[in-house]
Amino acid sequence: MDIDERALSEAVAAGFAEQVEWLSTLVGFDSTRGNEAACQDWLASEYAARGWQVDRYTLDQVPIEGMPGYSPVVDADYSRAVQVVATHRVAEPAGRSLILQGHIDVVPTGAPELWEQDPFEARIVDGWMHGRGAADMKCGVSAMVFALDALRRLGYVPASTVHVETVSEEECTGNGALSTLVRGYRADAALIPESMGHRIIRAELGSVWFRLRILGQPGHVLASAAPGAHAILAATDYIAALQQLTAEINVEARHHPYFGAIENPVKFNPGKIRGGDWLGSVPSWCELECRLSVLPGHALPEVRARVAATVEACAARLGTAAPALSWIGFQADGHVFGPGTEAEAVLARVHSAVVGGPLEGVSLTATSDTRFYDLYYGIPALCYGGHARGMHSPTEAVDLASLQQTTEVIARFVAEWCGLTAAG
Ligand SMILES: [Zn+2]
Repeated sequence: MDIDERALSEAVAAGFAEQVEWLSTLVGFDSTRGNEAACQDWLASEYAARGWQVDRYTLDQVPIEGMPGYSPVVDADYSRAVQVVATHRVAEPAGRSLILQGHIDVVPTGAPELWEQDPFEARIVDGWMHGRGAADMKCGVSAMVFALDALRRLGYVPASTVHVETVSEEECTGNGALSTLVRGYRADAALIPESMGHRIIRAELGSVWFRLRILGQPGHVLASAAPGAHAILAATDYIAALQQLTAEINVEARHHPYFGAIENPVKFNPGKIRGGDWLGSVPSWCELECRLSVLPGHALPEVRARVAATVEACAARLGTAAPALSWIGFQADGHVFGPGTEAEAVLARVHSAVVGGPLEGVSLTATSDTRFYDLYYGIPALCYGGHARGMHSPTEAVDLASLQQTTEVIARFVAEWCGLTAAG
């Protein structure tokens, strides 16, 4: 069934005020790690209202441990980690099936003094919606849902099975995306509308998260501490050593086919630190938590071994026992998304028609959920969405005009990929 493209564009436009309102509500949920349930329950009710079959479950209900792409979990209660898969089905599927996936977990807001607004109160300024999660990536979730609404407004539904999935854990493990696959959801393609500036992810870095528990030699501050005896000061030595390792990897990256053109694509982030108990005592402990990017082609066991060797060498220089090293989150492979899939060809066509110009690929120096579908489960996966800025910062914002275009791109993609049939 061919759809009138102008009519579809108008149908997206007709629903856009409602979409912005809906997105504001979604941004209003503090869906940081461990707090996703209220947000997911609201989404589940929205999906049910659209006549989709809703599967709401928690991560502890799915045997994900040890599955391909699994990341170890600390400090998280998976009995509270709610995931939602909503499914549209037709009696006689005709087209190709599709997964539309978005994550609703958001990163912590950080220092409150740096925010000009309540992070969880959406605010629109000059056509940009501000708020934690507005860009990463609740806007994309709204695009998935309202693309299907626009088709429905014209009297159509997809002619094949479509799973609308909202997951958590994208920002720390990817185990939410993994759970949908372990639970059995599959399709002929997957589309994740992260805010990519109307480009497609061609390659992305992986990442590993780890923790060092550094022990010192406690004593009164009046005794001068030997190198390595002061757990907090020793942490600065480990940071410097890991920065040196990162510099070495970035030299290797200069020859990488997808990341060679980017200066220092591999990032080391000592993101969290705590230690010590008393200002009159040399601190006896310090915990340092870090993230290191992983280039496509660098195997995770090798990267972990290099981190461990770096830590051990630093400990030897300090004359202390090596700190305990544990892997506490992301163990994500870097990945290249092979060009030339039929799904990408369809996306390129609809992108050109709606946004204009050819569909460009981007080498992403971060990690998304896309790898699960493509790399671990063999489902052609596209990560594509509109313009945003300030991700993970207090200035996070999404360009609403661009979001409307993304919604239209997805609606057209669904029409072409899945085919359409009259809504019942
Ligand atoms: Zn994201």
